[in-house]
Amino acid sequence: MGDNPEMVLKNRLHLSWVLGISPGSFTTVQQVHDHNVKIITEELKGSGAVNYDTAISETDAMVTGVPDVCLMVLQADCVPVLLFDPQKRVIGAAHTGWKGTIRLVTQKVVSEMQEKFGCLSQDIVVGIGPSIGPCCFEIGPEVIAQAKSIFREKRGFISKETPDGKGYFNLWEANKMQLTQMGIPVGNIEVAGVCTYCSHHLFFSARRQGRKTGRFGAGIMLKNL
Ligand SMILES: [Zn+2]
Repeated sequence: MGDNPEMVLKNRLHLSWVLGISPGSFTTVQQVHDHNVKIITEELKGSGAVNYDTAISETDAMVTGVPDVCLMVLQADCVPVLLFDPQKRVIGAAHTGWKGTIRLVTQKVVSEMQEKFGCLSQDIVVGIGPSIGPCCFEIGPEVIAQAKSIFREKRGFISKETPDGKGYFNLWEANKMQLTQMGIPVGNIEVAGVCTYCSHHLFFSARRQGRKTGRFGAGIMLKNL
């Protein structure tokens, strides 16, 4: 959003070339920090492949069983969550910052995989990608109050609280808990544990560089067998 469209297109063409997939397979959503999940049918393949305007609106997550669709979420500090059920051959992707995390979008993706595709929790494997980490994600009293109302006081999701009401939010653990609460075995979940704010030489970080920065993509695709 706000980037030079020609550069975005050039980068995506380059990425598709490197990956050996069609540029028209990239499928993206407009990412509004909410919990709506879209089931991606053949017809929706390629939505937002070349620009933000044609991305699927009012949506932060996708699920599909259609091969050759690269579900791609874009972020600069928010958490990419990628899911795969190798038994049913179903994939999911979610973009989740602190708002999506407290709106439980990750949990909603698992529900959709179960309800619409018959996926079993024990079969789903999940990768939680690079995002701003608990080392750097300082939040204020309002966000802390919302996070605590959803996640209670437990598990250390909020750490290093100060007398002026600030603290650090662990988005990785908060999303991991959503997955385990849905019955996904902890051993099926891999957390990259890479902080985008610390690793700003590798990743865009909106907190460090300002909102008007680039985004990096995290994607997942089923290959045609
Ligand atoms: Zn950090």
